[in-house]
Amino acid sequence: MSSVIYQINSEKKYNREVKKMLNFTLSNFRDMQFKEVIGHDEVKRKLIQAKKDGRVSHAQLILGPEGTHKLALAIAYAQFLNCENPSENDSCGACSSCIKYQKLSHPDLHFIFPTINAKSNDKPCSDDYMAEWMEYLKKTDCHVSLSDWIHHTWDENKQGVINVKDAHLMIEKINVKNYEAKIKVFIIWMVEKLQHQAAPKLLKTIEEPPENSLILMITENYDKVLSTILSRSQLIKLSKYPDEIVRNELIARYQVPVSKAANITRFVDGNFFHALKASKEESEYDYTKEYADLMRSAFMVVHKKTGLDKLEAWVSGAAKQSRDNQIEFFKYCLNMTRQSMLTNFNEEKLVNLSDEESDFLSKFSPFINEANAMSIAEEINKTILHIERNGNANIVLLDMAFNIGKLLRKM
Ligand SMILES: [Zn+2]
Repeated sequence: MSSVIYQINSEKKYNREVKKMLNFTLSNFRDMQFKEVIGHDEVKRKLIQAKKDGRVSHAQLILGPEGTHKLALAIAYAQFLNCENPSENDSCGACSSCIKYQKLSHPDLHFIFPTINAKSNDKPCSDDYMAEWMEYLKKTDCHVSLSDWIHHTWDENKQGVINVKDAHLMIEKINVKNYEAKIKVFIIWMVEKLQHQAAPKLLKTIEEPPENSLILMITENYDKVLSTILSRSQLIKLSKYPDEIVRNELIARYQVPVSKAANITRFVDGNFFHALKASKEESEYDYTKEYADLMRSAFMVVHKKTGLDKLEAWVSGAAKQSRDNQIEFFKYCLNMTRQSMLTNFNEEKLVNLSDEESDFLSKFSPFINEANAMSIAEEINKTILHIERNGNANIVLLDMAFNIGKLLRKM
């Protein structure tokens, strides 16, 4: 297994945990050329054309929903712009600049991202967590989500922030001469998390970055990005992935079996981050069977006063699943609620079910109808929220099963 030592660049004075960061092993990071970034062909074409035309804007804002590989696209773009031997449509992947990019160790590539105040650590900034960040990118092939990053690093469900210190450090770094790159790149991930106090410091830099530098900002929430930043940057908009791309990429790139890929695609709504997570679940938790068992036993317990043992067995089985798998399962339940309604309305074109699902819903779908569908969906969403907040799974799931049981009835 090839591995490289990631060395934080020479701005040692900024880092409080230099020791930890200097000897950080990074192995087998997926090369982030354009061809490794899933989909977005039209956007890639425009980015490539901008370089050819010599009109690369110095501050760009990449906007797209979660699970659209925005960060990978930003890295691939930066790598392409700095490549010593690019082809018509991609970086070479082999020159000295590309190799440093692949290791994420290029001294002229910088990341700024949200961090949180851990109790023992006073006002951390991105540099303090650079080693964890690199490891996270490596582990996920740059398929990243903000809540997952925070939870992965701090085991917390707080909102992260990009703070004044991050802004200060970025301004210092951007005003130092480039070490070696044609273009020094700053990638600000989730710029909507930039604290209001930090923004004024950055605005001048974003408006007029020093020559040979580029600021790539990434966001999932356009409305929460400060208007002063929006007005100073060029917008690159990414659409969510079509189901076809999600399914095909799971099969081709991640060797997910065809039927599993088709199942996952049905409930991730184009979010490749979720698709990949669901595909990596080791357990053979059969969502369709578990959904049918839950609905049957919840109904029986509430309306026929029987089968409490079956419901309790279901709850204890579900509570043993990983948190991620529980959340994916309840997203699947939301989709099945919707599919039940579509089945009731004979919307055959919109109904998208496997044979097993279709078999179950042919009898069960009348129990979900206009009178209760919204309340059932709310109940499921509430359950997801409780699980995300680390609620006691046994209590949360039993409570949900009773509430759904009460709601289930034929019109
Ligand atoms: Zn190259």
